[in-house]
Amino acid sequence: MAGNDLVARWVRPEIQALSAYPVPDATGLVKLDAMENPWAWPESVRQEWAECARTLDVNRYPDPAAGALRAQLRAFDGIGAAHGLLLGNGSDEIIQMLAMAVGGPERTILAPEPSFVMYRMIATFAGMQYHGVPLQAEDFSLDPAAMLAAIEQTRPAIVFLAVPNNPTGNVFARAQIEQIAEAAPGLVVIDEAYRAFTDSTQLDMLDRFDNVLVMRTLSKLGLAGLRIGYLVGAPAWIEQFEKVRLPYNIGVLAQAAASFALSRAGMLSEQTALIRAERARLCAELDKLPVQVWPSEANFILIRLQGAAARDVFTRMRERGVLVKCLDGAHPHLAGCLRLTVGTPDENVAMLQALSASLGE
Ligand SMILES: *Cc1c(COP(=O)(O)O)cnc(C)c1O
Repeated sequence: MAGNDLVARWVRPEIQALSAYPVPDATGLVKLDAMENPWAWPESVRQEWAECARTLDVNRYPDPAAGALRAQLRAFDGIGAAHGLLLGNGSDEIIQMLAMAVGGPERTILAPEPSFVMYRMIATFAGMQYHGVPLQAEDFSLDPAAMLAAIEQTRPAIVFLAVPNNPTGNVFARAQIEQIAEAAPGLVVIDEAYRAFTDSTQLDMLDRFDNVLVMRTLSKLGLAGLRIGYLVGAPAWIEQFEKVRLPYNIGVLAQAAASFALSRAGMLSEQTALIRAERARLCAELDKLPVQVWPSEANFILIRLQGAAARDVFTRMRERGVLVKCLDGAHPHLAGCLRLTVGTPDENVAMLQALSASLGE
């Protein structure tokens, strides 16, 4: 058995200092903590998928290029031949591939904060520096002066901008994104994980900035269990990142299931349209409660509880059977905040009831 002294000697200190990414147990709860699409596949679609799965040979390695799926993703997002496309086991793995390709102890990943926590975590995994720049506290917009000063000071290898941002739900101003892309000496990766819930996209920036890449994922669209993320950009960049991609990173079942789902893209877009409609309804209902509500272009809503302690309300909501995300303590700007994933109409009713009952206590 490995003694603690051996572990302490060999595991890098910055890894020892981390705690593993926490995933709470949601058994039996209305699960509104992780921005999942709440709609399971109808029985008829499950039958068709089962027929399709029967034909798969899992004794063979997957197609390393995932050719069929790549073609469908290109068609789905209108990505032309001028752009390269890299597939990851979720966009988390793409962030990791980027860090491996450009990393080094003197190199920095920079991102506004609060934002997606994996930018910081993966910088640490890869032995890179990480620099967070606070967003404006009131509306979570970018602070351009602070961003430009931090870029000048740290000369980052990669700037990550989640647009819409998680956990705040807002879209950063286009002019400010462009200013950052102009000033950045390295890559600017625009993370469009919530593309399905907004009309805005920065994909066209690829044609004007040779340091910009756009990252997307099928997770929030409705396929979180399949782990498919992708990166779009100039072939010269993508060719290099392909070298650090593990050859069979997308398994046979994930490739086939994603292809199957994309051939029924209408089902997915109906679901995301319902989520957008529910988001509007939920915002209107939340506005009637004594909470601060930020506008959202994603499939979640950030709220701040006035007076009531967020952790207590979070716990009472869980006792009432509804799991949301408590962000109090995650960043100073998020004091008293909860993040509510938009669910089905029934789930949202349950969530609103649990929230208002928990506020009243
Ligand atoms: C959820 C999320 C992702 C992770 O996506 P996966 O493809 O499931 O790894 C990436 N970026 C942001 C901003 C997210 O919120």
